[in-house]
Amino acid sequence: MEAVHGNSNLETKKGKRLILFPAPLQGHINPVIQLANILHAKGFDIIIVHTKFNSIDQSKYPHFTFHSIQDGLLEHEASTSDVVDLMIKLNGNCVQPFGECLANLLSDGQTKPVISCLIIDSFWYFTRELGDRFKLPILAFRTVSVCSALAFNSLLLFQKLGYLSKPDSELEEEIPEFPPLRMKDIPVIKSRYPDGIFKLISSILESNRAASGLIFNSFRELEEPALTKISQECQSPTFAIGPFLKYFPASPSSLMEPDQSAIHWLNKQAPKSVIYVSFGSTVHLNEAQMSEVASVIANSVRPFLWVVRPGLVRNSFRVENLLNGFLEAVNRRVHIVNWAPQQEVLAHPAIGGFWTHSGWNSTLESICEGVPMICSPFYGDQLINSRFVNDVWKIGLRVEKGLVKGEIERVIERLMDEKEGKEIRERVLSYKEKINACTEEGGSSQQSLQGLIDRILSF
Ligand code: UDP
Repeated sequence: MEAVHGNSNLETKKGKRLILFPAPLQGHINPVIQLANILHAKGFDIIIVHTKFNSIDQSKYPHFTFHSIQDGLLEHEASTSDVVDLMIKLNGNCVQPFGECLANLLSDGQTKPVISCLIIDSFWYFTRELGDRFKLPILAFRTVSVCSALAFNSLLLFQKLGYLSKPDSELEEEIPEFPPLRMKDIPVIKSRYPDGIFKLISSILESNRAASGLIFNSFRELEEPALTKISQECQSPTFAIGPFLKYFPASPSSLMEPDQSAIHWLNKQAPKSVIYVSFGSTVHLNEAQMSEVASVIANSVRPFLWVVRPGLVRNSFRVENLLNGFLEAVNRRVHIVNWAPQQEVLAHPAIGGFWTHSGWNSTLESICEGVPMICSPFYGDQLINSRFVNDVWKIGLRVEKGLVKGEIERVIERLMDEKEGKEIRERVLSYKEKINACTEEGGSSQQSLQGLIDRILSF
């Protein structure tokens, strides 16, 4: 773990408080907590405001002050099964409780250090008006990759150009305005409200444009062209200060307890032999997809570490049946856990590849450990990340036809056994080196972090 270098302005920062407001989703809480730790190590006092839904275990962070707000979700609404709907509801419900919380915190100013700014997850677009009302600068943190943020920003354009209603025969075509994305990669997130994603994205874009700066968990050596473009598009200074996990691990903010048996099992496997399979915290498989994954694993001769989190397949009774038969068939070659200590797993010498859904945190964690990827994206930014992993960065292979056995088996062979896979492995290892350099003192991410601190101190 790298130290967070340089504390030259520590004195100035004493007496400055920052409010951070994460969205209540696993892939968003982790990086916001990491960002909070990074800024705390730089001398800022940290206040975290969070919703009751997916609330954060405060006992793990005695160095932060927490405020919990009512989110107004009814029992049946408190679920991540429709993220677009959830976030639109929360943006409506939280206006009043968050406004009251902010007013209380700001009125503390007589006795406590001043609050310099509000750092929001970009999903919280409603905060813009409160920032204006309380004259509090807002920095927006986009938890996705920069290339994904750009693709989301272009959704309304893609809709206008008719790209969202392309026939199946044209889905493999490249998008002229956004190479190398293909029509099938457009990151529409399905919701029970058909226009929900457009409302969410245009609100995020407006609030990004009004923000005093944009923060990304990424690094310049990976996303330089996209960073330049988004700075122009949003007309805000951008700070690519990642990968955050080089400063602080994400695992303490895990909403589920990681099963350490994964590491004990890995300790018994040969170097670079194991494929780690995990589709993150929000993806759901249908039973046919689950059978396809199980059958790829059962038919292989390789060892697999497989995360089958509760709820991965909605009909759990049938899944249990599938897994019982499956486990007998594969004996000790496959280890299944509910939830893995993912960063530790990826850092383990036995890991040879990561079969992933291409969530941004998982992608970054894999690059940080130099592990090449087999990408099976499902929706949203996973489509963009996996396209860039395959076509631009060339540090993994994307399965193009969905969860279909034959193609996945072939992709695994290419990655694990062939010359192409060797080159991919070398490339991801060279990005690992670049990450080490950019998070060292004087590296690009450290410079951006200093830029961010200077920006905060200028408020
Ligand atoms: N994760 C984990 N254990 C698991 C599966 C996932 O700790 O068994 C963590 C993973 O390390 C990552 C996060 O959950 O930090 C998933 O975030 P990502 O952006 O990859 O995907 P999402 O869950 O948001 O789809």
